[in-house]
Amino acid sequence: MLTVEGLRSRYGRIEVLHGLDLKVSQGEIVTVVGANGAGKTTLLKCLSGTQPASDGTIVFRGQSLTAVPSHKRLKLGLAQSPEGRQIFTNLSVEENLRLGAFLFADDQVDRDMADAFAMFPILKEKRNLAAGGLSGGQQQMLAIARALMGRPHCLLLDEPSMGLAPLLVAQIFDVVKSLKARDVTVLLVEQNAFGALKIADRGYVMETGRITISGPAADLIADPRIREAYLGL
Ligand code: ATP
Repeated sequence: MLTVEGLRSRYGRIEVLHGLDLKVSQGEIVTVVGANGAGKTTLLKCLSGTQPASDGTIVFRGQSLTAVPSHKRLKLGLAQSPEGRQIFTNLSVEENLRLGAFLFADDQVDRDMADAFAMFPILKEKRNLAAGGLSGGQQQMLAIARALMGRPHCLLLDEPSMGLAPLLVAQIFDVVKSLKARDVTVLLVEQNAFGALKIADRGYVMETGRITISGPAADLIADPRIREAYLGL
């Protein structure tokens, strides 16, 4: 589904990704964990095309993304739910969802909306309210639901659990896990390493712009280095 090789990226003269290799297969949930500033967000921005790569290749569903601008990547089926949610606070919940489906003008949009409401009943209750009035957890649900309205093959999720109360974190991770049944492949970037690895098939550990450890998620959870550095165990 997604193959990244030798990816480098820089802000001005400062290189923050130093040649990353990473793979996500169809139907997988893959988690990237790492400390603050490791470069996780930059990785996702390179994948969605909002940050240029200075070297390396990104291939999505057999197509090189090097020359594909950000908005066209969405058309190819690669969607991002960004860190900090970035929903439109003045628009209603429903309007936000419709914007997520801006590529489409068919009957499927209403079915996808019904699907989103089934997944997140609270969004249905609040469908006519301004999104800015939602709680943090509800805004996160809206951000994920909006990304799904774009019918992605692969969803890039940046810190979906950030700032949420533990109960909501569990709920968000449950939703991410359920995307598998919907045939949506997920690349999840998280500081909440334990919760994210628990729902993942495989994981990568990123340290200052490099992948240092990778493997099946269960192996990572059992790895003493990871338990100490990232899981606080
Ligand atoms: P966080 O969890 O805090 O978002 P992260 O692992 O996602 O961390 P990035 O946000 O990708 O890390 O940042 C990687 C490095 O790049 C950090 O040293 C950060 O200070 C730097 N950086 C990020 N964005 C910019 C920018 N717009 N301009 C300059 N440097 C940046």
